[in-house]
Parts: sequence; C-alpha cells; structure tokens
Amino acid sequence: MSPKALLAANWKMNPVNAGDALDLVKGVLPASTAKPELVEVAIFPPFPWLLGIAEVLEGTTVKLGAQDCFWEISGAYTGEVSPAMLKGWCQWVITGHSERRAYLGETDDMVARKTAAALANDLSVIMCVGELDEHYDAGRTAEVVTGQVRAGLANCSADDSARLVIAYEPVWAIGSGKSADPEHAYKTMRMIRKTVGELIGAGAARKVRVLYGGSVNASNVEAYVELPLCDGCLVGGASLNAEEFTKIVEVTAAVYAHL
Ligand code: PEP
Repeated sequence: MSPKALLAANWKMNPVNAGDALDLVKGVLPASTAKPELVEVAIFPPFPWLLGIAEVLEGTTVKLGAQDCFWEISGAYTGEVSPAMLKGWCQWVITGHSERRAYLGETDDMVARKTAAALANDLSVIMCVGELDEHYDAGRTAEVVTGQVRAGLANCSADDSARLVIAYEPVWAIGSGKSADPEHAYKTMRMIRKTVGELIGAGAARKVRVLYGGSVNASNVEAYVELPLCDGCLVGGASLNAEEFTKIVEVTAAVYAHL
C-alpha cells in the first residue's frame, strides 16, 4: 500500500459534448485537489477533450491521461495517436482495457507494445488485466491474470516500476454493478504483485502500484482501498457523476488519513 491512494477516472466514450466534459472536470476538481497528500487523482477523458481539460487542470494536483495510445511514434497509422503526441498534455495512459481487448481485438502482444512505448515516452501507465466470467467460474483467474501480466510486461524492466500501475479489473465486474468480493480482489492483487516480482525483481515490484477496478462506487470503495496491497481504484461509470466521484475521493482520503 503506497502512502497515498491513486484514483483513476476512466470516462470511456463520455461525455459526448465538450461543454459537458468541462462541467464534469470542474465538478470533481474541489474534492480531487483537497487532499493531494492522501489521494492522487488522474482523469482519463476521450482524446478530443484532452486539450481543453489540460487547461482546466493546469497548476492543480490532478493529472491527465489518455485511454489508449499506439506503439509507434509517427507514420502511416490512420486513426492512431502516438505516446509522443500525448506527452505534451498527459502524464498517464491506460493500456489493455478489457473493452479494447473485447471490441477492438487488442492482444497481449499489442498491450505489451503499447505499454513499453508509453513508458519509453515518459508517460505513466495503467495496464489493465482481468479474467472473463467463464474464467472466474472455472477457477482460472490466477492462470489468466498471471498470463496477461507476464505478456503485457514482456518489454518492461525494473527501471519502469515507479511509473507502472497494474489495474486488476475482473471483466465480469466492469459496468455490471457486480463488484468483486474484496477477498477475491485481494488474492488476485497479491498474485499480481508476486508475478511482477518474478519479472522485474522484488525490490522494483514494490514500487509498482496495483489498483482494483470494476463497479467501484461511493458505497463500496472503502472495502477496496482499505485492502493491504491495494493502492487505489480505477473508476469507470461512477466517475461520470461529479457528486458520486467526489464521495469516492472523500471516502478514500478518510481511509488513508487513518493509515
Ligand atoms: C473501467 O472502465 O475500467 C471500469 C472499472 O468501469 P466501471 O467502474 O464502470 O465498472
């Protein structure tokens, strides 16, 4: 558990209008900047809203991230956005989100290339891993998640540890309202840490942060952020409601204030 929690707000493909995106970021800003020594907040809006939101966040403690990036720096890759383009505006990028794996056919190899490219371009990375419901039901969570961690970090080294975060997001928990049992989340996050240690060494692995994600809201966030080995949460749907996200930040700050 790091001295302060990381709360990452993944807005996905929302809001549709720039004005609503600006209203949302302004709505979450007071709580997100209130206790920076206890909670670090990073916001991941859609690409078109990054520049406008960067202006709002300038000079604050809140960080900005992109929801994806490509692995090349420039070239004939229509529709793609390179980490070199992002680094002027963003401090963070998400790789391997399960929605990209499911709808865009992202493979472990693509996730590994994106993760390495983002790190090489001075961005911090939240790499997402998680099992499908059929894996969970078959008791295959450890095997699937370990495989994703090993494959996704194939091109990483101990030098990347301070800028590397792994989000454990059971796919069946994302957007379903069916958040994972904290005990299951804890065991899987412990296994992720062990796997990272085997890959980059135990000392470096201690600097890698591990988050839980999947239907986190103001009512259940405490159960995750108080888990030993949990460094915070990746929040999707609940981050689109300024009032709800404000409560998530406040509850997390209260837990970390008592550590
Ligand atoms: C996510 O998008 O990473 C996520 C965890 O979504 P939700 O909180 O809506 O389950």
